[in-house]
Amino acid sequence: MSDTTHTQLLIIGSGPAGYTAAVYGARAMLKPMLIQGMQPGGQLTITTEVENWPSLLEIQGPELMVKMEEHARAMGTEIVNDVVTRLDLSHRPFRAECDSGRVVTADAVILATGAQARWLGLDTEEKFKGFGVSACATCDGFFYRGKPVLVIGGGNTAVEEALFLTKFASKVTLVHRRDSLRSEKILQDRLFKNPKVEVIWNHELVEVEGEDSPLGVTGAVLRSTKDGSTMKIGGDGIFIAIGHAPASELVKDQLELHNGGYVKVQPGSTRTSIPGVFAAGDLTDHIYRQAVTSAGMGCMAALDAEAFLAEHGQAGLPDPQHGELAETVSAE
Ligand code: NAP
Repeated sequence: MSDTTHTQLLIIGSGPAGYTAAVYGARAMLKPMLIQGMQPGGQLTITTEVENWPSLLEIQGPELMVKMEEHARAMGTEIVNDVVTRLDLSHRPFRAECDSGRVVTADAVILATGAQARWLGLDTEEKFKGFGVSACATCDGFFYRGKPVLVIGGGNTAVEEALFLTKFASKVTLVHRRDSLRSEKILQDRLFKNPKVEVIWNHELVEVEGEDSPLGVTGAVLRSTKDGSTMKIGGDGIFIAIGHAPASELVKDQLELHNGGYVKVQPGSTRTSIPGVFAAGDLTDHIYRQAVTSAGMGCMAALDAEAFLAEHGQAGLPDPQHGELAETVSAE
């Protein structure tokens, strides 16, 4: 398939940053196109309860993302289920090539590609990935019904994954390299109260142990971060939850990055090192990384893009295919 379309505003990514940018971009009459990427809805689609989205005491992550997508669509965003494989930001209009063969040119681009799970980089972790080693408890937890599992990490993700796994596993051992967790206190409280959970402090995973036929995990070797001594522990599943890395692969040679791969934006804005290209959410934020802060940055990116397009005489131009919409604008 080879199909070229032009849009005023191209949004790449479908987490809270992307969908919020879409809502604001559509309401600014920019008729945005949003390309969802490999995992429509982003990281929240692989979590369970979300308890910190203002106005909702509790909602499942996937449900929240479905609602955001519906909202963006209802406002007039064209949502495309495709993956951008190449992005040329060397001149305007910018050009995105997608996995399906679709080509999109755009006057402005909002990057909201988020972040992906980090791995430890061990050979044995790689060997057993998908065969006992996972970075997603909500995807794979079910396979460990009645079995002992390990979770590596001490942040919100690790604690949430550990708590989720207690629904299935016979025992959940959280292994953390320090002697205190960095996760929210409310989550820590739930973790420490759960009788299925044990925490091994001051240890790191150095080797995944398992069998070759059939390929599967049987345990792990842990090393003390205090004295270097090692210990073995049994387990059928190992969940790596050591944080996330920004998904900046598409733009790493084109935009200024910092802090290990995050897209650099001008302070107090979403402007990147290329005029007309904006970044929002986990792709650019190495500090807060919350759904609600990503959504806020998505809003900022749409407002920044609107201002940029207005400066270039390209904002909210009447579209003959959307005559009614254009009339509504001029009537207001
Ligand atoms: P994170 O907060 O960066 O925590 C990563 C954890 O992994 C830390 O405890 C870190 O240890 C540990 N770690 C990192 N590299 C390691 C290594 N090589 N070996 C062993 N341990 C290692 O990442 P996250 O938990 O994925 O959370 C990312 C962001 O999303 C955070 O801002 C978090 O608040 C947010 N989040 C929020 C929620 C929620 O609000 N419910 C849920 C999930 C995530 P140290 O502590 O020693 O550095």
